[in-house]
Amino acid sequence: MNVTVSHIRSALQECYPPREAANLSRIVCCEMLGQSHIDYYLGKDMILSPKDEKELESILFRLCNFEPIQYVQGTARFLGRTFRVAPGVLIPRPETEELVERMLEEVAPASRILDIGTGSGCIAVTLSKELPEAEVTAWDISEEALAIAGDNNHLLQASVLFVQRDVLTYQPVEGECFDVIVSNPPYVTETEKRDMEPNVLNWEPSRALFVPDSDPLRFYRRIGELGRSMLTAGGRLYFEINRAFGEAVASMLRKQGYTNVRIRKDISGNDRYVIAER
Ligand code: GLN
Repeated sequence: MNVTVSHIRSALQECYPPREAANLSRIVCCEMLGQSHIDYYLGKDMILSPKDEKELESILFRLCNFEPIQYVQGTARFLGRTFRVAPGVLIPRPETEELVERMLEEVAPASRILDIGTGSGCIAVTLSKELPEAEVTAWDISEEALAIAGDNNHLLQASVLFVQRDVLTYQPVEGECFDVIVSNPPYVTETEKRDMEPNVLNWEPSRALFVPDSDPLRFYRRIGELGRSMLTAGGRLYFEINRAFGEAVASMLRKQGYTNVRIRKDISGNDRYVIAER
């Protein structure tokens, strides 16, 4: 069957504003159905096999349900690599790319690194690829996330060791030690949930996103405690944080005995990272 680009765009415009519909139709045509960019911009018809036609129908249906395009594609880009993603893991965010870029500038190449709440594994796998001498371990509570992270480790030929662990209850064993602990834990408060888009709210795992209003720092506090026993002297914490809690996280870490505690901004000018030394 012949399908026109304008048919796809108008189907998407029923659910998305024009710019987003245009962007999504380009991804659908060029990245998913294999149309060349030139043909796409010339508005040429695509000739789809019955199988591709079914596929297109399913893609449009999912997008009109506000499923994020990365889940529909099954992949997301992170610092130049393609990671497998599915609704069991957060879609990697540009803020997290910035965190990893910062680490790559600052962390010693042969560090022992622990990533807590690894999700798709984007942080751990990238560090393992970029710092081949480092020993990278990653934890997550979710079996589904660990399966996806394990796939990414394998597909990208990284060498991360994944372990299923609940950071809130885990008690470290003697001699378990790291030079760097990094985490992008859940940090969106229940109140902030109200302002979130349906594509995040209905599709991304709430366990990876939300913390109760009554205790928004729960993961940072616990990781800070673990770091006191698991980090080597001078070892570092790298946190991605909710922009509203920079000072709160920093002062909590100082109370826990960390030094050289720094709040850093993301590219949009929001407090987004806290770095500290044991
Ligand atoms: N930055 C993510 C968002 O805005 C939240 C990530 C997290 O909770 N760790 O949805």
